[in-house]
Amino acid sequence: MNPCPRCSNPIDETDNFCRHCGRSLKPGTGFLFSHTGIILMAFVLGPFALPFVWLSKTIGTAAKWIYTVLLAAVGVYFAVLCYHSFLLVQEAAQLMLGGGF
Ligand SMILES: [Zn+2]
Repeated sequence: MNPCPRCSNPIDETDNFCRHCGRSLKPGTGFLFSHTGIILMAFVLGPFALPFVWLSKTIGTAAKWIYTVLLAAVGVYFAVLCYHSFLLVQEAAQLMLGGGF
């Protein structure tokens, strides 16, 4: 018998969730690994939420691939966006330097 890491009540080895406080006791089953958690993290972390998608035990394989494709698309979009803003800054710098003050 181990105590629950959150509420210290005794828990069964076979339990996925604590009977007393509801904390998930198995890796890959917490809130961050649920669909809601993944979507929230995708907004905050972007493509860096991918490891959580694949570590999750609550999301099906088909859904994992959908999340992977979506996150990859977001990653590419941001990379292109960064590249364009880099070009814009470079252009602006050239204009200012060669603008003849
Ligand atoms: Zn507990």
